[in-house]
Amino acid sequence: MLVKAVREYARSELIELDREWDRTEESCSSHFEHLYEMGLMSLRVPESLGGLECPMLPYAAIIRELAYASPSIAVNIAVHNMVCDIVRRFAREEIRDAMLTRLATPGNLSAFAISEPDAGSDPAAARCRAEKTDGGWRLHGAKMWVTNGITGRWFCVLVRTGNSGTSKDFSMLLLDAHQDGVERLAIKGKMGIRASETAEMNLDGALVPENHLLGEFGNGLQIALASLDGGRIGIASQAAGIANACLDEMVSYARQREQFGRPIAEFQAIQWMIADSRVELSAAQALIDRAAWLRDNERPFTTEAAMAKLYAGEAANRIAYRAVQVHGGYGYCHEFRVEQLYRDARITTIYEGTSEIQRYVIGRSLLNGGS
Ligand SMILES: Cc1cc2nc3c(=O)[nH]c(=O)nc-3n(C[C@H](O)[C@H](O)[C@H](O)COP(=O)(O)OP(=O)(O)OC[C@H]3O[C@@H](n4cnc5c(N)ncnc54)[C@H](O)[C@@H]3O)c2cc1C
Repeated sequence: MLVKAVREYARSELIELDREWDRTEESCSSHFEHLYEMGLMSLRVPESLGGLECPMLPYAAIIRELAYASPSIAVNIAVHNMVCDIVRRFAREEIRDAMLTRLATPGNLSAFAISEPDAGSDPAAARCRAEKTDGGWRLHGAKMWVTNGITGRWFCVLVRTGNSGTSKDFSMLLLDAHQDGVERLAIKGKMGIRASETAEMNLDGALVPENHLLGEFGNGLQIALASLDGGRIGIASQAAGIANACLDEMVSYARQREQFGRPIAEFQAIQWMIADSRVELSAAQALIDRAAWLRDNERPFTTEAAMAKLYAGEAANRIAYRAVQVHGGYGYCHEFRVEQLYRDARITTIYEGTSEIQRYVIGRSLLNGGS
């Protein structure tokens, strides 16, 4: 029922808004209050704490439906819900329930800050550091590319807390960005998902209390990587939503555009582009559902999530390419939605691990004896 309700809402209300946000580069955060009311900002929060406690399989379908209409809103919701998952799994018991209740309440958007100017695919190159102080840590350094980074209040931040040269040198902290010592600067001029806030963040002595340590001290890198496994199901679903929108645009345009005295839908070349896109979208969806099902059933899903993200992201780009091709010159103009979808699709093979990193994850698993 919820997937259906989101589908109706997204298709009737979000498409035109998203088109306008893309043109003006305005943040879609003005719309978040409504998303909270619908329960979409607390999909992964337990019911007892005001959330919807949505399993991963329908969650992935909801992200796909949102992405069909607004890829920007889809990623904002996916990141916020990923942070809810992190808090649920790793926050200290004394703050966990209160924090999850807050995350389900407007004014408490969250973000996931791993990347830095010189640390992207290799998070272990992170230099942002936490210095121990009375009752907590003081953070110094810079984070880059933070989704939800301007409006967000709660940030999962990967920080360096050791210098042993091992993976144990990092911890994950939950930072309240409403304090001195936190500067956020909007990154403008993005190719796509232009309504999604992306920020650069400078930390100069911001304080994180002791009980805001997530997981064990020194386990930050493992927490970041484990969180990304779940996040990748969200991004794969975002890609599937974009691909689905491209496919529908392609079919509709092919039926009405005439050349050589007949609809271009009658040309086999056009039919094949539509057919290939349909098959690839279904294959992507099957991989996403498989990864989500494994996660819901508490089975290992790292490789399956990487496969879903790799395939869905690459397929979305191929499908968006074909959608523009079917539209001919019109597809090259902003007036037709495929032009935007083509740009929006591009990010899905880059963030939460590039396609090259997904291949690395999948290959490493096989080479280490996995299936
Ligand atoms: C719009 C947007 C939103 C984002 N949101 C967030 C966010 O909310 N939080 C966050 O922490 N980060 C976020 N990111 C950062 C994103 O996750 C990184 O951009 C991504 O991980 C790639 O890192 P990089 O850009 O530094 O590229 P690099 O790591 O410098 O990679 C450059 C190229 O080298 C390749 N490469 C790197 N290492 C290898 C390797 N070992 N083998 C093969 N090829 C390799 C890459 O695949 C890529 O093609 C966001 C980025 C963007 C653009």
